[in-house]
Amino acid sequence: MKKTIRDIDVKGKKVLVRCDFNVPMQDGVITDDNRITAAMPTISYLKEHGAKVILMSHMGRPKGQPKMEYTLQPVADRLSQLLGQDVKFVSSPVVVDDAVRAAAAELAEGDIMLLENVRFRKEETDNDAGFAKDLADLAEIFVQEAFGTAHRAHASTAGVADYLPAVSGFLIEKEVKFLGGAVDEPERPFVAIMGGAKVGDKIPVIENLLKKVDALIIGGGMAYTFYKAMGFEIGKSILDADNIDFAKELLEKAEAAGVKMLLPIDVVCADAFSNDANTVIVDRDQMPADMEGLDIGPKTVELYRETLLAAKTVVWNGPMGVFEMPNFAVGTKAIAEVLAEADAVTIIGGGDSAAAVEQFGLADKMTHISTGGGASLEFLEGKVLPGIAVIEEM
Ligand code: ADP
Ligand code: MG
Repeated sequence: MKKTIRDIDVKGKKVLVRCDFNVPMQDGVITDDNRITAAMPTISYLKEHGAKVILMSHMGRPKGQPKMEYTLQPVADRLSQLLGQDVKFVSSPVVVDDAVRAAAAELAEGDIMLLENVRFRKEETDNDAGFAKDLADLAEIFVQEAFGTAHRAHASTAGVADYLPAVSGFLIEKEVKFLGGAVDEPERPFVAIMGGAKVGDKIPVIENLLKKVDALIIGGGMAYTFYKAMGFEIGKSILDADNIDFAKELLEKAEAAGVKMLLPIDVVCADAFSNDANTVIVDRDQMPADMEGLDIGPKTVELYRETLLAAKTVVWNGPMGVFEMPNFAVGTKAIAEVLAEADAVTIIGGGDSAAAVEQFGLADKMTHISTGGGASLEFLEGKVLPGIAVIEEM
């Protein structure tokens, strides 16, 4: 078990918190502040427990230069609004300078300060020890709260922990509990749903999960590479030609491991990659040569429903069809509804899958929606994430 902010005494201590405030911006205005509100429970906890809070984050890709279009000033303003108190922001082109040190030293219990975009320094992504120490010297405790960058060993995500005791914030605690818990000690039956465009993008995840799950459900564009491996006509469907052999191998591995592997049994075929395309729904061995598969069909949904409703743990990564087009979002939505109904721990990992679930208004029906696209995939691959590895064990 990783130590969290609950396990330490923060009263009167300067606490340096790595957040993920990499929010979308348009013309200097934040267009979606989800990532800021997500960090509020941790920030509020620290404040209420008398910590002197110093927040840091990256935003965008200033590429190691103090480019002011990437200043965190708008984030400081939004934080002040949300917290109902003035969040101190000392914008420095080098992130930490004497003015910043002085401001940090003057903090009183419950005060909150935000540092400038850590990627204004190229030493950030280089995980430079000097920069990490400059950051660490501002504080006495490091709190990891940025899951979106936890798979990167940067100065502010990993390096600082060489100089400070590190614990997790509430967001990281939840990610470790659910993603880690699912992979390491899932309640069974444990079912993984893999979708998305290409098999090639997900090979390490599928290989790792195949060792753990009771059933593996395949959907989305990657299904056609499996169909190809099985000898079906796939028409103009998306094909990951380099990975046909891999698909074949996976089918064999699943069989050998006694993992139930489910592939779509019917397909929504379209005559163009367009929401207005003409469509037919056919069994999987009947795909017309001049059409492409853009969604799973209703028989497939029924088949998957049975397995999913019997599951105790479900991990879902990758949509079942081209859900961005309403006419091909039906399968993805149906699966999301099954998960909402299922009496199981349901975990959504992957940017597009999370977006799909939000779009259907089902986000609050899931046990956990991971906040880190790339990071959640690496977690599911069984990799050690540098930003998580630095957090102290109990
Ligand atoms: P995630 O972000 O959840 O990991 P991916 O990025 O792997 O998911 O895959 C999402 C993309 O896969 C979506 O843009 C979706 O349109 C695409 N996709 C799903 N099914 C198909 C299909 N049958 N043909 C082409 N693209 C598909
Ligand atoms: Mg994606």
